[in-house]
Amino acid sequence: MEMQRRQTDVLIVGAGAAGLFAALHLPAEDDVLVVDKGRQGEGSSLWAQGGVAAALGPDDSVDLHIQDTLRVAAGHADPAAVAVLCSEAPECVLQLAELGTRFDRNDNGTLHLAREGGQSVSRSAHAADGTGAAMMETLRQRAAPRVTRIEGSCVKLAVSDGRCVGGWVLTKDGLVEVRATATVLATGGVGGLFESTTNPSGNTGDGLVLAWDAGAGVADMEFIQFHPTALNAGTGHQRLLLTEALRGAGAHVVDAEGRRFLFEHHSDGELAPRDVVARAIASRRSWLDCRHLDADVLQNEFPTVMNGCRSFGFDPTTDLLPVTPAAHYFIGGIQTDLDGRTSIPRLYAIGECSNTGAHGANRLAGNSLAEAMVFGRRAARAISAQRAGRTKSLARPPDLAPPRGSTEDEWAALRALCQRVLGLERDGKTLATASDELERWAISDLTTNRSDLELRAAAIAARLIARAALLRTESRGVHHRSDFPEPVLGWAGVRLRLGSGRKA
Ligand SMILES: Cc1cc2nc3c(=O)[nH]c(=O)nc-3n(C[C@H](O)[C@H](O)[C@H](O)COP(=O)(O)OP(=O)(O)OC[C@H]3O[C@@H](n4cnc5c(N)ncnc54)[C@H](O)[C@@H]3O)c2cc1C
Repeated sequence: MEMQRRQTDVLIVGAGAAGLFAALHLPAEDDVLVVDKGRQGEGSSLWAQGGVAAALGPDDSVDLHIQDTLRVAAGHADPAAVAVLCSEAPECVLQLAELGTRFDRNDNGTLHLAREGGQSVSRSAHAADGTGAAMMETLRQRAAPRVTRIEGSCVKLAVSDGRCVGGWVLTKDGLVEVRATATVLATGGVGGLFESTTNPSGNTGDGLVLAWDAGAGVADMEFIQFHPTALNAGTGHQRLLLTEALRGAGAHVVDAEGRRFLFEHHSDGELAPRDVVARAIASRRSWLDCRHLDADVLQNEFPTVMNGCRSFGFDPTTDLLPVTPAAHYFIGGIQTDLDGRTSIPRLYAIGECSNTGAHGANRLAGNSLAEAMVFGRRAARAISAQRAGRTKSLARPPDLAPPRGSTEDEWAALRALCQRVLGLERDGKTLATASDELERWAISDLTTNRSDLELRAAAIAARLIARAALLRTESRGVHHRSDFPEPVLGWAGVRLRLGSGRKA
């Protein structure tokens, strides 16, 4: 089959909150091509529940948001990135509201803000517990007339004379070559690598591996946030998230004796930082108790959770909800500057696949949707300023082997390994053995099968995470080593950057 060729000003890979918010901030005259491997976008944005953090409340300020973010980040955040995130988030949230997102409001018309873990005041703008869906509805509507959309997986980036000049996309009709003046990766996280995750299964680290294969640097790979309260029910690796806002609204975490035990671990109890709560919950069988909360409040403010729980046979107004931690958010990623620039000129990364340093070693609730918008917008502005002529033809397209036929058993084995080795509790010996074991998944070939491509990406991402987790001989934020259980002063602020060593 003849390969299709497309030319565009900007290629955006990923149609989540980051990709679409960036698209809306590119000049109207630009051709923008958005490639997404899901029919409706399969990333996390659509599933986000609790809210987007922005200092908009009367008792809040940008400084307080910065302080909270830095405190939770465990001495590892880049203060400049935090300052940008916190000072630009309010404008982005207000802009989204203006574009049509129906955030919940108080009687006086101001935004209703929820308080989530680690926030010292109520800070999360939300649409009941379906914030992501509400945001995505607006973003899709607004972006639709502005962009051309292709359904397919980006399988390789094209680098010519050291610059990114586009990439190749596998669609149901074959390979499409896309030449672009600027390329933006907005491909989301890596939850799909784990046996227990709140993420859609298509979150397999594709963008990270596209960048890695092209020679870009990645950083902070060892930091993966586990959400403390996912419903421990159902089969498969996806778990229903029970949003932190439930605990903000007064839900308790109890053990088998019905005791609230989190205060033994942190003075903030249920609202302690996520890593503390997650490790405490992992240490014993735990339940979320919402039974004392008003049934109408539960139904009106948490319809996603209520309906989700009922589909698993639990009624939060009368039943204790069994909970378990689940892989939730990838802090590490493609290293960027404050405008989304990667180490390869004309290649940008935004949202969860990127690493700006804003989350440090632990992400504050609500900060990821804020990051997707703030840095998506900044990257769009940087691209507008970077204008340059059309690119030349791309190099030779990648060779795609016939489908290898990755199996459910292979996926299950990889996920079990990642859960055991890269989960909440790590140790050097296991990490070293696992790194060798992960070589077994060293699939070099790109094939024409999506599951093969995702398994390849997942295995490479897992190797990079294991490598960084082994190198960081301390515990900090969400990275916990049982053989080095304390933070080590010498590691404070040291960001592990891995480079593939390829010449871009
Ligand atoms: C259940 C849940 C609840 C959450 N709640 C909150 C919350 O309340 N507040 C908050 O701040 N954060 C929350 N988060 C985190 C937040 O939703 C994400 O960090 C954020 O939405 C990421 O946005 P993104 O645009 O970077 O990526 P995503 O929304 O994940 O989008 C990535 C897109 O890239 C596409 N893609 C991936 N690989 C390829 C490829 N190779 N080719 C083409 N397309 C590709 C995917 O199909 C997808 O559409 C939550 C996450 C989950 C899972």
